[in-house]
Amino acid sequence: MSQKKLMNAEEQADHFNLRKYFTLYSIGFFVSLTALLGYVFITHEKKLLVDSAVSAAKEFAQQLNHHVQEEGYVSNIMAINSLSAERSPGYEKLDKMIGEHMSEFPDILKIKIFDRNRRTIYSSDPNAVGTLNTHDQLKEALSGQISSALTRRMKPMRTDSAESGKMYEVDILEIYLPIYENRTGMDLQENVIGAFEVYKDVSAVFNKAKRGGYTISILFILSMSILFLIWQMIIRKADRIIKLKNSEIKKYNRELEEAQHKITESIDEVIKHESFHVRYMNENLVKCWEVKGCNKADCPSHKSEDLRCWQVAGTFCGGVVQGLFAKKYGDCRQCEVFKHAFGNRINTIGESFNNMMALLQSKHLELQEANKKLNVLVDIDPLTQIANRRSFQNRIENIHLLTLRYNHPYSIIICDIDNFKLYNDTYGHQQGDYVLISVANAMKSSIRRTDEIFRWGGEEFIVILPEQSHADALKVAENLRSSVHKLGVKHQKTDLQVVTVSCGVASFYPWKTKDIGWENVVKQADDALYKAKLGKKNCVYSAVPM
Ligand code: GH3
Ligand code: MG
Ligand code: MG
Repeated sequence: MSQKKLMNAEEQADHFNLRKYFTLYSIGFFVSLTALLGYVFITHEKKLLVDSAVSAAKEFAQQLNHHVQEEGYVSNIMAINSLSAERSPGYEKLDKMIGEHMSEFPDILKIKIFDRNRRTIYSSDPNAVGTLNTHDQLKEALSGQISSALTRRMKPMRTDSAESGKMYEVDILEIYLPIYENRTGMDLQENVIGAFEVYKDVSAVFNKAKRGGYTISILFILSMSILFLIWQMIIRKADRIIKLKNSEIKKYNRELEEAQHKITESIDEVIKHESFHVRYMNENLVKCWEVKGCNKADCPSHKSEDLRCWQVAGTFCGGVVQGLFAKKYGDCRQCEVFKHAFGNRINTIGESFNNMMALLQSKHLELQEANKKLNVLVDIDPLTQIANRRSFQNRIENIHLLTLRYNHPYSIIICDIDNFKLYNDTYGHQQGDYVLISVANAMKSSIRRTDEIFRWGGEEFIVILPEQSHADALKVAENLRSSVHKLGVKHQKTDLQVVTVSCGVASFYPWKTKDIGWENVVKQADDALYKAKLGKKNCVYSAVPM
């Protein structure tokens, strides 16, 4: 199966064919409803017609009955009865009278008169005279009740038809009525002397009922067809809308998958390269500088492929914050690019990701800056603004290793302010802090740029002299001591009346003492300082005897 066919089959399987189901079900429903309606109508009409035919026939027969009574035919009937089927003057009279009645009622096909023994003693069809009738309806008539039966027959019922020999099917209503001996005793069962049978042709009225039923059914079908057509149109429309929505949803899902994939890729790239410059690239998105009125060449988004104007809105709109989503910069939101970018959900997802990345990027930069500052601060003594002990350890390790590698010397000087506790006690701690700052500055400016000074702790300072011999280091130490002395900071509780320092000097010669670490060199300097303190202070002591 080709790819296209497969896709069509999939689409059809996915798509629920509303119209097809409604068409099938509604056709079935309407046909059944029409048939039922026609049947109910015809049955009802037939019943009404039979009832009216029966009452008309009854009226006819009752008129006949009265006539029979009035004309004194009863005795004739009795006479006929006794005479059996033989003709008598009474019979002729009766036949004439009935013939006159029948001509007035053309749908009365036949009239018979029975005696109490159910024998036909008179019939408008002469051949039937003398026959016996065993119908239950006759039985009921002989017991004083009027009864009827509906039949369908194929025969010529009237003399003219019989002559032409034509047969036709007719609906016959047979009505049986009792004949009483005298008028006063009517309704009395014992006065019944015989019964009439009237055959009435009801085909015409039945056909009329059928025609009515067919007309109703046709009208119903017509109106239902119109309704059905309207229904079909509505369903067709609904079907089209569903199809359209389905394909829209599919398209949207595909785009969403694509967006998800792109964003996942972008995140991977962020993780891999630790770069927050990554952006979700939406091909449909026009660049802001391509839009009329957005052609500012100095706009960062113009220079960058991945920045939108609202991401640099701070800069673009004359602000200072770059990379922040420009909620507060209403102007940028009127931009066509902005409207397009957030015009549909996929673009919105992509652009939201971009905003997030832009924000992350700016935060990342801020953090980098803060880290740089923090790194500096971590190595600086906040009081004296010279490098601290932590910084000293990093530097001395490095210098010690370099010394070992290149076989060059280095020296260490530790200086400690003399009688500083006494100074604090005399002038206060804050004044002591000022002294610490002054001493640090004095010593810093008396060393070379290649030498480094650190605050070792409390009122102690340590100086690293890379590449410097012990003799040179002693000279530097002397300079340091003298620079502090020269400051002339008043310290009335000491002999010299000014603040002074004592220094201990030690040096490392890798070719001489290879196995010792920098800690050992520091200890030697510290020991020398201790010796200086034991003396008169304000002096320099060497770790090795000179
Ligand atoms: P010595 O001549 O033997 O060195 O005597 P000293 O009094 O200088 O030494 P000691 O170790 O007895 O006292 C050091 C004093 O330095 C104690 C302490 O209050 C003071 N000091 C340490 N750090 C600071 C600081 O940051 N500011 C101030 N004002 N004083 C400090
Ligand atoms: Mg000390
Ligand atoms: Mg001291």
